[in-house]
Amino acid sequence: MTDIKELLLSRIRDVQDYPEPGVLFKDITPLLADPSAFTALTDALAELCVRHGATKVVGLEARGFILGAPVAIRAGLGFIPVRKAGKLPGATLSQSYALEYGTAEIEVHAEDLSADDRVMVIDDVLATGGTAEAALHLIRRAGAEVAGVAVLMELGFLPGRARLEPALQDAPLDAL
Ligand code: AMP
Repeated sequence: MTDIKELLLSRIRDVQDYPEPGVLFKDITPLLADPSAFTALTDALAELCVRHGATKVVGLEARGFILGAPVAIRAGLGFIPVRKAGKLPGATLSQSYALEYGTAEIEVHAEDLSADDRVMVIDDVLATGGTAEAALHLIRRAGAEVAGVAVLMELGFLPGRARLEPALQDAPLDAL
């Protein structure tokens, strides 16, 4: 295992049965509290943004904000929040997506993305892939290009990568 992977893994806490029975929650707060781990993660994600030619960083609420904002600064790019429905004050584009039970909806300010943009989507965990998939649809509906999706970790026991594949349209999915 590479040093950075070992460092990051050592700072992720597994919490069984949170927020409900049967869920293994990946808690990144120990990583955020460790400046060397948080810096290593920020640098690695920023490097991916540069490598994939991104012009903007989209962070997915809520932990995608904590990771995406320093990544955007480090890569010299603008940061765009994709939020749960009803939280953004301006004119928005919305996208709903299926959850195991019911649906969810995310939004972006329509004016934040344009045809000139190549967008990197940042989040902490790729689980079912539903949120990232909806974000990719939003980005394309805004007229922008997708540079890629980069997450701290993907949960290999869930089919998130397979679900995301069609929406990626050959853009890279990187899980550190
Ligand atoms: P999904 O749309 O299923 O890929 O879920 C992705 C979002 O839910 C991410 O923003 C994660 O922060 C959060 N999430 C889902 N499953 C977990 C988990 N087991 N541990 C921590 N966060 C999770």
